[in-house]
Amino acid sequence: MKNTDVIIIGAGPVGLFAVHQLGIKGLKAVVIDNLDKAGGQCIELYPDKPIYDIPAVPECTGEQLTTRLLEQIKPFKTEFFLNERVDEVYKEKENWVVKTNNDKEFFAPNIIIAGGVGSFEPRKISLKEAEKFEGKSVFYAVKNKEQFKNKKISIFGGGDSALDWALELSKFSKITLIHRRNEFRGAQHTLSKIRKLEKEGKIFIKTPCQIVSLENDKELKSITLKYDDEKTEKIHTDVILGFFGLIMKLGPIAEWGLNMDKKTIGVSPKNFETNKKGIFAVGDICSYPGKLKLILSGFHEVALASVECFKRARPNEKYRFEFTTSSKTIQDRLGKK
Ligand SMILES: Cc1cc2nc3c(=O)[nH]c(=O)nc-3n(C[C@H](O)[C@H](O)[C@H](O)COP(=O)(O)OP(=O)(O)OC[C@H]3O[C@@H](n4cnc5c(N)ncnc54)[C@H](O)[C@@H]3O)c2cc1C
Repeated sequence: MKNTDVIIIGAGPVGLFAVHQLGIKGLKAVVIDNLDKAGGQCIELYPDKPIYDIPAVPECTGEQLTTRLLEQIKPFKTEFFLNERVDEVYKEKENWVVKTNNDKEFFAPNIIIAGGVGSFEPRKISLKEAEKFEGKSVFYAVKNKEQFKNKKISIFGGGDSALDWALELSKFSKITLIHRRNEFRGAQHTLSKIRKLEKEGKIFIKTPCQIVSLENDKELKSITLKYDDEKTEKIHTDVILGFFGLIMKLGPIAEWGLNMDKKTIGVSPKNFETNKKGIFAVGDICSYPGKLKLILSGFHEVALASVECFKRARPNEKYRFEFTTSSKTIQDRLGKK
């Protein structure tokens, strides 16, 4: 069980700035996100698109904003727990316990939910048999590439993840790259390298086709593909890697007894506390009269929520409002001389 002052659920732009606002007040936080990287919608949905309404930043892409936010919170050495979905939240005396899908536990007087539109989850193969092999021979992300060494791997998808992993894993495994269209969306320079390996007989490409069944006894043996012209083909396969994109699901947040309003959590605009003391909701996931789903609104919300978090985490200390320009304490926390 990990103890901290604040558990932040969601590493989108608002969750990241929450680390800053807590950090300058001397509070420790951990950040948990279901995705394998920080940045939320900015990194998953529009990494290359320019944003024009971040104060004092005339233009930056979703990826640049994420990089800058991460840079800004570096001094706080915050621990990130990625690939972890928060499933359970419950109270233990005056504190909150948070549990993830991988059984990690966290303990704190405060939780800041910066869950955006919910957890991003991989789109999965819609075959019943695929479920039974999930985590054993069917995967939707690569956490440790060592486990994919010397295997017969069928990689599905037409985007960058499918192409990048096809190239990378082809160094030590037999790769079949499968896509339902003839055209691949991913980076053309990666595709050129893959086409070259195809010519050398090192990667096999199958298009336009889709998986129709998995054959197994105890272990996965092969898959059957169906082409657009109705022909079928069996491919010997030990491992399936699916990169079909992400879907957004509100997920477990709806089960935590919070004041839900459709897919958002009702909060007080005074401090962004929910109906549960010590649980705050900020960013796209919160609602209050006049709420705007903008990054800058989320930044304001965490500034106020962090003050309330301070009061709960340090009940014997008085909160003092300070400017970063003039506070020696804040500058020390930021590692400034
Ligand atoms: C195409 C597009 C363009 C946009 N352009 C602009 C713009 O120009 N200006 C602007 O201000 N805004 C823009 N937005 C909106 C902006 O991206 C959102 O307001 C912002 O991302 C909200 O940030 P957030 O941190 O609240 O949530 P998100 O960015 O949605 O991040 C939430 C994170 O929480 C995680 N999460 C959720 N539930 C769980 C759980 N149970 N366990 C673990 N993790 C969980 C998710 O995986 C996700 O990473 C745009 C949005 C889109 C889609």
